[in-house]
Amino acid sequence: MAPRFEAVIVGAGFGGMGAAIQLKRLGIDDLVILDREDDLGGTWHINRYPGLAVDIASVTYSYSFEPNPHWSRLFAPGAELKAYAEHVADKYDLRRHMRFNVVVGGARWDDEAQQWEVRVENGETITARYLVTATGFLSQPKMPDIPGIETFAGKVVHTTDWDDSHDLTGCRAAIIGTGATAVQLVPKVAKKAAELTVYQRTPIWVAPKPDLRIPPPVRRLFARVPATQRLARVVSTSLLEMLMVVGVLRYRQARVTNRGAELLARAHLRRQVKDPVVRRKLTPGYSFGCKRPTFSNTYLSTFNSPHVHLETSPIARVEPDRIVTSDGGSAEIDTLLLATGFDLWDTNFPAIEIIGREGRNLGKWWRENRFQAYEGISVPRFPNLLSLNSPYSYSGLSYFTTIEAQMKHIDRLFGELRRRGATTFEVTDRANDDFLDAVTGRLGDSVFYVGDCSSARSYYFNQHGEAALLRPNSTLATHHQATHFPVTDYHYA
Ligand code: NAP
Repeated sequence: MAPRFEAVIVGAGFGGMGAAIQLKRLGIDDLVILDREDDLGGTWHINRYPGLAVDIASVTYSYSFEPNPHWSRLFAPGAELKAYAEHVADKYDLRRHMRFNVVVGGARWDDEAQQWEVRVENGETITARYLVTATGFLSQPKMPDIPGIETFAGKVVHTTDWDDSHDLTGCRAAIIGTGATAVQLVPKVAKKAAELTVYQRTPIWVAPKPDLRIPPPVRRLFARVPATQRLARVVSTSLLEMLMVVGVLRYRQARVTNRGAELLARAHLRRQVKDPVVRRKLTPGYSFGCKRPTFSNTYLSTFNSPHVHLETSPIARVEPDRIVTSDGGSAEIDTLLLATGFDLWDTNFPAIEIIGREGRNLGKWWRENRFQAYEGISVPRFPNLLSLNSPYSYSGLSYFTTIEAQMKHIDRLFGELRRRGATTFEVTDRANDDFLDAVTGRLGDSVFYVGDCSSARSYYFNQHGEAALLRPNSTLATHHQATHFPVTDYHYA
């Protein structure tokens, strides 16, 4: 039986849209994009909490082939990212391929028919020759397992499920978590709440954010002379590259760069927070880069306000009207905001059940062996699967550098498939093993293994203690490999 579609893409965020644009460029128009949400945009559709903004400069955090001269700020607010996603979907004619409110339960490779069977939770089965999973890295919200939380009588909101109708004015709020989301949310909630207690388990490094407005004449220049915006992109991407490659990945050779970033963050903390006790509590005890650093000009100084409290005693339990900490203290609250992040390693890799050839279950195989994916995109025994959000796939600090490298990989792979008149590809065990050896070898120089990450509780590390998320390459090297990998690293049929 011929498959219903040439390709199924799971996820209508920037990753899924990038894959769709690439497949369409290759002439594959018979594709469907499935998403469990009710609209496109992935992260930028789901997240709507106050303060949401990108923290990678927008000239870099966007497709290089679709520059947007209209960003209002160097770090655009979330709503502009959502609008940009809509613009891309329209311009590249992606909307007609999208189906929303479709929850994909799993996918199974049918070796006889040489196609994927994608199981949708309404009972439907969709068949396709190629399966692209673009389910994101941060798409499975983590709910804290705190005793009594279900008994809380007030309002509980996770940041991925923001309730705009809940007015925070005059409320007594608690925020649990101090990651990148909380760094954006805390100053906004503090402006409205009568009392705000922030529950911190692990402090985060916060660097200053050069959060400039882009004045209209500059935007007009970007629109009229696109080379000027390309130049701005090169400058911003190069700075990020330096931070990532030199400060994080080549820590052993260049720890002075990392130390420089840490000193900058320490100076920022000293400038922003008056009380030395609070300052000490806000100072991380792990090396800069073990955990994703954040950028903000307002988060730290918020703790100077008399109505904002930083609580570092562990939470013992939640009662209907309060949070009780293990030192016996408690804070009466009516609003509980969960900035507790996402689960990557238990539920997100992969986000759906995927069964390949010989009955190999991808999630089980990754957990029982090691997390691995050739070039961060292909896995042996999973023919015709492109798993965009895989171990060792994330390259550079902007997700778009990863997406565009993967688009190039798809281009090269499908070019070879066509040249051979084949329709099925599968990465070889040898190529996959060599890639895993190479990346884990190079990671030996990174801050993750040479620095002190013991107290970081960073989601860069999986349950086996391996830092298996980031690809230890410069983005230039990643892009070069995407266009030059040996085509013999795949079997074709
Ligand atoms: P996160 O970095 O994983 O932070 C979650 C926070 O919740 C941590 O402080 C964590 O403490 C705390 N937490 C979790 N469970 C807890 C519990 N049971 N009790 C107490 N504390 C608990 O998540 P996030 O802040 O949502 O950020 C995730 C990622 O999203 C970021 O790293 C970034 O990549 C991305 N992001 C980007 C932007 C942007 O501007 N582009 C904005 C927001 C987020 P521990 O550290 O102790 O575990």
